[in-house]
Amino acid sequence: MREKIIAGNWKMNLTVSQSVKLASEIAASLKEDMKTKVVIAPTYLATAAVAEVIKKSSIYLAVQDIDPNNDGAYTGKISISMVKDLGVSHIIIGHSEQREHYRETDENVNLKLKNIIDAGLSPILCIGETLSQRENREIQNVLTKQLVGAYRGLPQSLAVRTVIAYEPVWAIGTGVTATDEQAQETIKLVRSTVSSLYDQETADKVSILYGGSMKPANAGGLLTMRDIDGGLIGGASLDAKSFLEIIKTAEQ
Ligand code: PEP
Repeated sequence: MREKIIAGNWKMNLTVSQSVKLASEIAASLKEDMKTKVVIAPTYLATAAVAEVIKKSSIYLAVQDIDPNNDGAYTGKISISMVKDLGVSHIIIGHSEQREHYRETDENVNLKLKNIIDAGLSPILCIGETLSQRENREIQNVLTKQLVGAYRGLPQSLAVRTVIAYEPVWAIGTGVTATDEQAQETIKLVRSTVSSLYDQETADKVSILYGGSMKPANAGGLLTMRDIDGGLIGGASLDAKSFLEIIKTAEQ
């Protein structure tokens, strides 16, 4: 079943103590029995400390990336088993900042996705087009390539456990948001691509989030669109009040 998810991506922001403070503020204000799944993704360094302060809350813990390999001789890297041991349930992969600054490839994203699923965790797969790709009407090709690459070799029974975040690159951290209609139209396209890769049943089960300058002022419109199941939020998730307001909007 499609779940409503509001996920905060804190990126390379906040020290461990600042992360603990923010996580505690969010945890303290969340109601029990919410229909929205709330996920937060602090920096790796804060994972253990944040896990401790949210353990009695309904918040799910994520990390912002992971190494595609399982444990072994990979100096400087962090594995799925390490974060799983700390209570992490979700892992963001394929974020446009990883694709742009660290040459993340669809092949790598595919490996990560399969290993995350194998470990029993949930991948949040980010896809999205740049402004020039949108202007050149390449959206469908770009998104299809990212989806085909990410899901290669993953059977239908496991594909239903994935979450997708459609994040137009031109809207991330820019203050420019896709209009409600642009986001809906593109996420509908993403859902129909999932249906072509698998079937309609799978497409009806995968949650697809919108990401790109979502904030309290625009969340209401975006979150009521038919195909949008929630949000992946960067900047506005660094402030407890803004993030909680978006969660409240999702709950309505
Ligand atoms: C993101 O990084 O996933 C994101 C959506 O950032 P922002 O909300 O700041 O645009």
